[in-house]
Amino acid sequence: MIKALLAYQEADANLKKIETMLAGSEERKKAMSAKKYLEGVEESVNKLDARAAELYATYEKATEEQIKLKEQESEITDALNAVADEKEAQYLIKKAEELISKIKTLGNKAGKILEEIQAVIKEYSTIKKTTQAAQAQYKENAEKYNALKESCKDEKDSAVKQLDALKEKVEPSLMERYLKKRANKIYPVLYEVKGNVCGACRMELPMSEMNKLKNGEVIDCDQCGRLLYMAEQKK
Ligand SMILES: [Zn+2]
Repeated sequence: MIKALLAYQEADANLKKIETMLAGSEERKKAMSAKKYLEGVEESVNKLDARAAELYATYEKATEEQIKLKEQESEITDALNAVADEKEAQYLIKKAEELISKIKTLGNKAGKILEEIQAVIKEYSTIKKTTQAAQAQYKENAEKYNALKESCKDEKDSAVKQLDALKEKVEPSLMERYLKKRANKIYPVLYEVKGNVCGACRMELPMSEMNKLKNGEVIDCDQCGRLLYMAEQKK
């Protein structure tokens, strides 16, 4: 029972080698990092849109305020032109000074809004550039990766064919356990127990598990998730 799975595992190394090469290829890494950036870019743009809307509202408010101040300014100018006594003139001058101060504050505020708007525009343009670069990087590397995949297709197919033949000889429930772990990127899956510790991660196994092994069962290591077996009576 174990022999058939060990033979399968040995042949599985060919498939694993191809998979590892593809997964670790620069082409795939570059394509994936570009894809990750592109997936996150929408959120950045949404945040920027919200900021731009906020700035626009602030800008509109400042414009309204400016119109009001201009109206007041012309009212005061008219009043000053028609002023009769000194007391009234002093009052109007005081009003004019207040107005000048308000206009100055508004001017500073407008300057700040403008700066922020410019920063947002700059950020939009940066995002646009990096997005275009990421799109190009993705396209180029996805193509290269597909070509790489295609180049080892025959090798992969023959490895799979060999495994399919070997699969027939393995007990189905054990094969299923193996393949499940293999799909979780565990390889090698099957290890021999060494004394009373896991042959892969060296975790000490409880007596109950040791007994199962002695009975010829294949167990799961709780720590590393590998399958463990005990070689038949070596003594
Ligand atoms: Zn282990």
